[in-house]
Amino acid sequence: MSEYDYDLIAIGAGSGGLSVVERAASYGQKCAVVEQGKMGGTCVNVGCVPKKIMWFGANLAHAIDDAKSYGFKVDKRGFDWAHLVEKRQAYIAGINNWYHGYLRDLNIDELTGTANFVDSHCIEVDGNRYSANHIVIATGTRPQVPDIPGAEHAITSDGFFALQSRPDRVAIAGSGYVAVELAGVMNSLGTEVTMYLRKSHVLGSFDKLVKSTLFDELKKAGIILKTETQIKQIKKETGGSLTVEDTNGHTQASLDQVLYAIGRRPDFSELQIENSAVELNDRGFIITDLLQNTSQPHIFALGDVTGRAPLTPVAVAAGRRLADRLYNNQADRHLDYENIPTVIFSHPPIGTIGLTEEEALRQYGDQVKVYQTEFTAMYNAISDHSVPTAMKLVCLGDEERIIGCHIIGPGADEMLQGFAVAIRMGATKRDFDDTVAIHPTSAEELVTMR
Ligand SMILES: Cc1cc2nc3c(=O)[nH]c(=O)nc-3n(C[C@H](O)[C@H](O)[C@H](O)COP(=O)(O)OP(=O)(O)OC[C@H]3O[C@@H](n4cnc5c(N)ncnc54)[C@H](O)[C@@H]3O)c2cc1C
Repeated sequence: MSEYDYDLIAIGAGSGGLSVVERAASYGQKCAVVEQGKMGGTCVNVGCVPKKIMWFGANLAHAIDDAKSYGFKVDKRGFDWAHLVEKRQAYIAGINNWYHGYLRDLNIDELTGTANFVDSHCIEVDGNRYSANHIVIATGTRPQVPDIPGAEHAITSDGFFALQSRPDRVAIAGSGYVAVELAGVMNSLGTEVTMYLRKSHVLGSFDKLVKSTLFDELKKAGIILKTETQIKQIKKETGGSLTVEDTNGHTQASLDQVLYAIGRRPDFSELQIENSAVELNDRGFIITDLLQNTSQPHIFALGDVTGRAPLTPVAVAAGRRLADRLYNNQADRHLDYENIPTVIFSHPPIGTIGLTEEEALRQYGDQVKVYQTEFTAMYNAISDHSVPTAMKLVCLGDEERIIGCHIIGPGADEMLQGFAVAIRMGATKRDFDDTVAIHPTSAEELVTMR
């Protein structure tokens, strides 16, 4: 008989927390997961899922325009934002409910409420105390808003997903993937969008090919790009509209929303993490090693709260591997944080894995060879709405092992997954060349590059 109530408690029922308890329960462990909000966490409720549905809606707006070039007599006769939001939320509610049943079936206890640490083996939820041999912190992060006058009038991605009608004019502060994705969605669905970029580009750490191609496309789509500018203050006017003043001394009035997408941070105020004695880094994320160990031997952390590769499949993979290691005798099982493929659902989308050209040159100098191509996909070649596709392979050494692959263009989102398998397995340029192309596709360019 264990001295604890549970073998494992996960705090947070997002991608990471759910994955670790699910896998641990499959090994016969007695598990509980604590959640203060909705099942599925950020990804399901205010992240990947609602974002992708809005992206599909935005794509349809382009498809209706393209249909004319393909001979259809169609016109966009309005767009019902509220209808799309209603359908989206019904879909999400289905996922939330499915999780409740799934946890019940696996005999995992759902503890509803906000957890706080009592000590390093015990948490409190809603006045009740629960102890566990192992505790996993998977509490994610929250979107940030800077401390400027009028910041209380701004929304974040959470607020975007709460919008019940389409805003006509929006200012977005930020240049990362959430900023460019939401800018693309709103622009496609008819909102006038201005982006305030701290630097002169978007997607700071990405390869310059996809960065510059997307920058040009955002501009071409009619998004106003204010570079090297930050919002200094936000004012709410008598009629309810917002006015922003930027660091270059310009003002923009008559905005329906100001949206901040400038990054996310953990918030441990409710969790009272200090009672667990787990150490944080100077950015406020939990320090973990590659095995998801924290500074406390029986407390682990995974997902966004660790500040490493904040993506759903990363949190899921880390959670599953941790349970394999703790409860299935796989002593060294851990997630390899190298070569994580990722997609940005911008317009057009981006798929990327491995080192950028700049990173490769810094690390390997003249051992690096780059192959690059730019073209217009066949679908876009006959539509009035011209969209570029650009691809880059970053190769290393005489054998030309592929250490980076960067794609922007229609279909990039679905193209990358299979190539990521090959690249993880150490594929060389020769392997790509020796693979018979699938014609006519955009993906074939990746195996026919000169
Ligand atoms: C707009 C947006 C779009 C995104 N798009 C993508 C995408 O396309 N692809 C992708 O891979 N990733 C995407 N992400 C990132 C993805 O959502 C996260 O990487 C993922 O959700 C992280 O999972 P997690 O388990 O670490 O945390 P979360 O999913 O954030 O879950 C943490 C949970 O813990 C709960 N919690 C926190 N504190 C407590 C407490 N004290 N007690 C009880 N419960 C608590 C929270 O309520 C939350 O439900 C997106 C994120 C955003 C914001």
